Amino acid sequence: MSRNTRVYVAGHRGLVGSALCRALRGRVELVTATSAELDLRDAAATAAFLDRHRPEVVVVAAARVGGIGANAAAPVDFLSDNLRIQLSIMDAARALRVPRLLFLGSSCIYPRQARLPIREEELMTGPLEPTNSAYAVAKIAGVEQVRAVRAQHGLAWISAMPTNLYGPGDNFHPTRSHVLPALVRRFHEAVREGHGEVVVWGTGAPRREFLHSDDAAAALVTLLESYDDPDPINVGTGRDISIAGLARLIADASGFRGRVRFDDAKPDGTPRKVLDVSRITALGWRPAIALREGIAATCAWYRDAVAADL
Ligand code: GDP
Repeated sequence: MSRNTRVYVAGHRGLVGSALCRALRGRVELVTATSAELDLRDAAATAAFLDRHRPEVVVVAAARVGGIGANAAAPVDFLSDNLRIQLSIMDAARALRVPRLLFLGSSCIYPRQARLPIREEELMTGPLEPTNSAYAVAKIAGVEQVRAVRAQHGLAWISAMPTNLYGPGDNFHPTRSHVLPALVRRFHEAVREGHGEVVVWGTGAPRREFLHSDDAAAALVTLLESYDDPDPINVGTGRDISIAGLARLIADASGFRGRVRFDDAKPDGTPRKVLDVSRITALGWRPAIALREGIAATCAWYRDAVAADL
């Protein structure tokens, strides 16, 4: 990629898309469109947009995403919107023979009982985690589309499977977001409102891996520059932490000194999820932001965003 490579980042306002734009700004010619300007579920509008801009690289970072609560509440939206978004973009890019495309999947596409740490080969070796199977099936279809386009048309398209990402600009919705931003918000609100107790969903025992979005963006740049294989590639830290441990880190970062209560009436989801990252580390990429440091930065960002809103 050089300064005049046209790179279309679909989903440039999302967590990973915005981080990728920060990483690429000044290094390439960025093409973006807000959802008000272009509804990616609309195949004809998406094809017209790509035809007008003729990108040489496309990154599919646009998706309907949400945490365990949002996935349970609206599974068909997650299935249908994601299938449409990725199909519109990839069909249009295929018609224009866009030489390079990076599709973003998610670590939740791996089977619930995948061997840990999860290697890329575990894909489609067993049943999915039911709390997000609709989303996962859509993403698996995207991975298969990349593979099929490579086989049929010889284009150098790739897919990446990021672990749970967090960072500035995340969705901090109280019930629909992922665990890390949900807890950042809940602990800050408890401190602000003087509550002595914070409720964390589930038992606290599930273990998850978290990667800062700026680290993820650097990984995607590495992949665009040096990965060319039909198999998806994991993007993560290879290290996990329990939800109880995560809650403790966020409590510390937000200055909360009260009690944490676990509500086991809420679902735990997959018991443990951590990726094997040997493939991507062999390409020379490593995460640079430690979880404690990343949480502190995310808390600071959240406080500024809340303050700006007042
Ligand atoms: P998952 O990784 O696909 O299961 O997605 P989430 O990020 O939504 O949830 C991860 C884990 O955090 C699950 O075990 C949840 O039960 C737990 N969790 C604890 N508190 C919360 C919360 O407030 N919101 C969410 N989304 N998850 C929570």
